[in-house]
Amino acid sequence: MAAKSVLIIYTGGTIGMVNDPETGALCPFNFERIAKTVPEIKEFGFSIDSYTLPEIIDSSDLKPALWAELCEIILENYDKYNGFVILHGTDTMAYSASALSFMLNNLTKPVVFTGSQLPIGTIRTDGRENLVAALEIAAATIEDKAVVPEVSILFGAKLFRGNRTTKINAESFNAFQAFNYPPLAEIGIHIHYNYGAINYSPRPKPISAFTEMDTNIAILQLFPGIQTGLIDAVINTPGLKGLILETYGSGNAPTDNCFLNKIKEASEKGIIIYNVTQCQGGTVEMGRYETSRKLLKYGVSSGYDITTEAAVCKMMHLLAKYPSLNEVKKYLNSSIKGEITVNHIGF
Ligand code: ASP
Repeated sequence: MAAKSVLIIYTGGTIGMVNDPETGALCPFNFERIAKTVPEIKEFGFSIDSYTLPEIIDSSDLKPALWAELCEIILENYDKYNGFVILHGTDTMAYSASALSFMLNNLTKPVVFTGSQLPIGTIRTDGRENLVAALEIAAATIEDKAVVPEVSILFGAKLFRGNRTTKINAESFNAFQAFNYPPLAEIGIHIHYNYGAINYSPRPKPISAFTEMDTNIAILQLFPGIQTGLIDAVINTPGLKGLILETYGSGNAPTDNCFLNKIKEASEKGIIIYNVTQCQGGTVEMGRYETSRKLLKYGVSSGYDITTEAAVCKMMHLLAKYPSLNEVKKYLNSSIKGEITVNHIGF
């Protein structure tokens, strides 16, 4: 690879949207418009190519097949570019960044997701700053090595680890937050990299991807008054293999037998249950209270401080990758790509 270069992969999202002349609603538009609106990207000292997906979408229409497509594009172009910027709608960006973090192995180059709250053609758009910073980070190297060899999200002057991120605001330019992990970089006059938070594990093997996802999962969020019939309907979903149980506080759930018997029933059916807290910050600590100790008895796995978005993608990934329930559980309880603050396996 001679001169530096970055590949922009355009999937859609508000950043490239225009108002439909008939309905007035925002809908995805082509990449040329983005490039025209930010001519200053030509002033970077590196070359920028772009790839537009055959079907550009509002990210609420996202399907897991898109993640496999993105991995393929990255793998096919891996040797040609220093880094990749993925333009993506904000609504499901945290899911896509989480998914790619699990799918891609031995990543040595930046994969930076970004987008915007206002379309790039509008006067006060946040898209211009986000795109420019994402490109700079995607191309950044020290001694020929990428500064951020991770899947990340750049938004509102911060760079976050992708699988730690959640969309927290539908209005603010600071739309994303990672409550349980420090930003990988902060963008001001200079870009301040948080080197201690970036993963620099050695990568002896070449880049690869495992792109299958098993979508036979469900999320069950607890609330006071939840009906047994609802739990029944969820755990009797045909083909269900994994259940993300969104619990209270540090992983707590009701202790009444009606509820616990359902958890036992699900567990005995071979459904893997992952305890993820409804709180944005902090961690599940199973056994801290009596109300979570009982879940342990039925083999519920701890999600520690994982986000729901990362939990969904991790569960789909592990169920597709490992036929053995014990193996799936072992990896659920471990950090495989820096998504939880607990013993790291192979990150
Ligand atoms: N609905 C849009 C999307 O996710 C929102 C955005 O991009 O900000 O594609």
